[in-house]
Amino acid sequence: MNKPLHDLSIAEAGEKLRSGEVASSDLVEAVIKRAHLTEAQLHAFLTLDSEGAREAAASADDDLAKGKDRGPLHGIPVALKDNMTTRGLETTASSQILAGYVPPYDATVVTKLRDAGAVIVGKTNLDEFAMGSSTENSGYGMSFNPWDITRVPGGSSGGSAAAVAAGSGLGALGSDTGGSIRQPAALTGIVGLKPTYGTVSRYGLIAFASSLDQIGPLTQTVEDAALMLETVWGHDPLDATSYSGEYPDPSTDLDRGVDGMKIGVVSELTGEGYEPAVESAVSEMVERLEGAGAEIVELSLPTFEIALSAYYLIAPAECSANLARFDGIRYGLRAEGATTEELMAATRAQGFGPEVIRRILLGTYALSAGYYDAFYGQAQKVRAGIQEDFARAYSLVDALVSPTSPTVAFKAGDRVDDPMAMYLSDICTIPSNLAGHPAVSVPIGLDERQLPIGFQVMAPALGESTMFRVAAEVERIASFEARAQIAEVVG
Ligand code: GLN
Repeated sequence: MNKPLHDLSIAEAGEKLRSGEVASSDLVEAVIKRAHLTEAQLHAFLTLDSEGAREAAASADDDLAKGKDRGPLHGIPVALKDNMTTRGLETTASSQILAGYVPPYDATVVTKLRDAGAVIVGKTNLDEFAMGSSTENSGYGMSFNPWDITRVPGGSSGGSAAAVAAGSGLGALGSDTGGSIRQPAALTGIVGLKPTYGTVSRYGLIAFASSLDQIGPLTQTVEDAALMLETVWGHDPLDATSYSGEYPDPSTDLDRGVDGMKIGVVSELTGEGYEPAVESAVSEMVERLEGAGAEIVELSLPTFEIALSAYYLIAPAECSANLARFDGIRYGLRAEGATTEELMAATRAQGFGPEVIRRILLGTYALSAGYYDAFYGQAQKVRAGIQEDFARAYSLVDALVSPTSPTVAFKAGDRVDDPMAMYLSDICTIPSNLAGHPAVSVPIGLDERQLPIGFQVMAPALGESTMFRVAAEVERIASFEARAQIAEVVG
């Protein structure tokens, strides 16, 4: 059957481009049309750049006609989370404090995408400064889940996830500080990947918590995630935390299967709070991995129980420092004030939303004299403990698996007044951020309400080849055809 162009994977679109069957302009028109059709329901984008995308597609087509092939992303329409700077295109991180901010420079990932011939169709919605798990904290209105538009698409990269799930981009970039790529991918039935800390440059990423933030891809397939990752990662002298050693090859082991591998199931990431449909889909997948030749080991990583608490000290502490720069003097919004101090206070009170203010207050408190050791210091010890638990586990197994999120997509409004319930969305994803390890969510099926379930595969630092090897097998076993099933929902 011939798929509509907006349903193609990046790999499939690349083949059609190279065989001359379609042009980049066709792909871009299809995706823009799809965005126009679905945006009223989904609100995945803050800015659609149809004009810029058409120009970039024309130039990608010109290049190909001249035999200049820039690689797997050449001519492919992709979406970008709006916390990555784009030269000449408004970038707000979904905060009113950055309303109207037009960056004078491209983030390194944007430069890399452009150099690879990719076409940027627009900037996607997120929770303000990437703080949240539902996009309900956006300063510009939430996004909705294409599987059920009364539900959240997850967050904070919810706009990127909704766009890819609905076909308004063949892939997207998101950022993941505690789960913000993987959780929305799980809730929208797509693949979402956080690479090893330091492998994708954060130059031009609006910082939330710098010791945790990583950029990564959201795509329809595991192979596409590898193609996007290979395009955007690599050492960057403009990011002081950028990794300068050898990079793994994510694509080599995609077809190898899991025969002979040792896979650990984390015993802490199950039980109370996990939906039965999520638990049974995950256990079934584990059994099938065993059937495919993997040795399954149940492992306890006790510090995972306190990872969330440590995260909610470390992330706010770092955000309180990172967000100090938004003062009404240098960027975006400027409120009235008789003195500089009053101007700054008024700008921040007016420009930041309630969750961002909560985090700044929490973080400032945790870092203040007299409390530093009790809060931040303790959290750092927990972080070290998590790293030790992981190291012990990886001395026994090649990869670890768990649900990505304890629940499927929840109803809009359900958790907004209960920060703890919202924070628990990331209980499975946060440990990999605290350790700096790679992890990916792969869709494995639907619950009884036809809502997608994600399966998380974690690997040690720079263990991307191993992670992709397992993820590709999970994808083959699940043979989850998201687009075919979602088509009717959004028309
Ligand atoms: N939901 C988590 C938070 O609110 C993680 C966000 C993220 O990964 N950016 O902090």
